[in-house]
Formats: sequence, C-alpha cells, structure tokens
Amino acid sequence: MTHYARSGQASPASSLPADYHLHTPLCQHAEGSPEEFFASAARKAIPEICFTDHLPSHHGYDPDIRMTMAQFPSYRRMIRRLQKKPPPPNVIFGIESDYYDRCEPFLQDWLPRQEFDLVIGSVHYLGTWAFDNPAYLDQWKTVDIASVWQRYFDTLRRMVTTGLFDVVGHLDIPKKFGHRLKDRDLRRMVNPVLDSIAGQGMVLELNTSGLRRAIAEQYPTLEVLQLARQRAIPLCFGSDAHQPDHVGYAFDRALDLARQAGYSDYARFKARKHTLVPLPGSSCKQA
Ligand code: ZN
Ligand code: FE
Ligand code: FE
Ligand code: ZN
Repeated sequence: MTHYARSGQASPASSLPADYHLHTPLCQHAEGSPEEFFASAARKAIPEICFTDHLPSHHGYDPDIRMTMAQFPSYRRMIRRLQKKPPPPNVIFGIESDYYDRCEPFLQDWLPRQEFDLVIGSVHYLGTWAFDNPAYLDQWKTVDIASVWQRYFDTLRRMVTTGLFDVVGHLDIPKKFGHRLKDRDLRRMVNPVLDSIAGQGMVLELNTSGLRRAIAEQYPTLEVLQLARQRAIPLCFGSDAHQPDHVGYAFDRALDLARQAGYSDYARFKARKHTLVPLPGSSCKQA
C-alpha cells in the first residue's frame, strides 16, 4: 500500500493539481502581474503554484527574453510578498533554468544559493540555435529532423546527469512546430533519457502549453508518459503560463492523461525535495 505524505496546504476541495510552471513579465514576453496569476489560480481552486520564470541573463546571455541578473532580487521579493497572502493557492519559488553547452560552471555555483523550492531544467538551445523560438523557425528547413531530435535528446540526457535540476521541462518540445519523429524512433531515442531521469530521481513535467498551440498536444506525448510511469518517474503539472488565464490551462485534460498513463499520484515540492500526493479526485485513500 502506498503511503502519501500529507501536504498541509492541499485543500481537499481541490479538483486540479498544483501548477508548477508560471512566468512573470520580467521575462519580457509574459503579461499580467504575479498577483493576477495568484487570483487566477485561486478562482480555479488550484492548491499550489510555483513561479518558474526564465533564468536571468548572465554574461549577456539572451537578454531579450529574460530578466537581467540585476532584476533577480526583485523577482524574489515579488514572490516572497505573494507568499504572505493567505492560500489557496500556496506559493512556492522556482526558476526555469536553461541547459546548454558550457552553462554548468555558472549554474553549479548560482542555483544552490537561491533558496529555490524547485528548479525546472529545460533545453531551448542546440548550440546557438533557439530551436523552439518562432523567430528561428526557418532553420528547421535546413536540418535533418531526426538528427535534431537525437541531438536534443543527447543534450537533455547530459542535462539530467548534471544533477543540477529537479524537474524535466516539456520533454518533447522539438515537436512544437510539427516536426515530429516516427513513434519507433521516438521510443528508441527517449528510452535512454527516461532511464537517466529515473536514475537521478528527477520529476517529469506534464506541460499543457502545447495544447494552446497548433500542435494541439501536451508535452510529452501519452506514450512517453506511459514509458515514464513504467519507470516510476514522478509527474508534476505545468501550464507554462505567460498570462494569468493560462494558469491551470487544460489541467482537467492533463489529469485524464496522467491517469491514462497509469499515474495515481503526483509530486509536490518544498526546498527542492518532493513528496507524492494523490491525484485530485483519485480514489486512493490516504494513510
Ligand atoms: Zn517564456
Ligand atoms: Fe521552456
Ligand atoms: Fe516556461
Ligand atoms: Zn518553458
């Protein structure tokens, strides 16, 4: 029998899970104040939210789509202020950290010193190519799609093995603009990555932002969720909200998918440690 840690903040009335992927206007491509994200979560009875804005620009890195390092303290203050409001939702503090070649010396030093509750690791760059940025969509026409996926998964696996991150963000993001792999190739490429994720004890994100896009599918696909479940990789949920009404986006659908993949619980974080709680509405009895 599974024993679940009781979470003090979880409201028994919640029918949706925690949303662990919210951005703020500091990244320059999101809108709405964190207070508005909070209010949106409260309206939808989401028990807990985690702000995970994009990693600050350091050494001048990609400054157009993220906060500056000088703005980071105000990001932290903004979230700390929100944490004083009565829940729900409970508010936790995180970051979406990019992983790319040669980022490790900075991240090794910086990430552990910020008192995050949760760090999402995401791959958005292959070399200098921001392959999921619409501004660089043209470059997809010049590449072999299967090779891009292989390179992406190799990079993702290196990210996982660093041990620097808690959650794997939007695992099959290269499909964002429709550049899909054959199922057989996807299985072959993703299995070693899932083995590494399980080996590191990391959590996999079920990210609903793809459902807002032309691809009309969550990240990752149901088959990958099933392969993750077979390895007992814990799941968490993220809307990747860039505006208040995105909070909890399509989470009822996400819950269905999680159940279809065989999940009956999901991960909640505090100070970079996770515990499993039953999926909302699941018949799992708490110990
Ligand atoms: Zn963003
Ligand atoms: Fe991302
Ligand atoms: Fe994001
Ligand atoms: Zn993201």
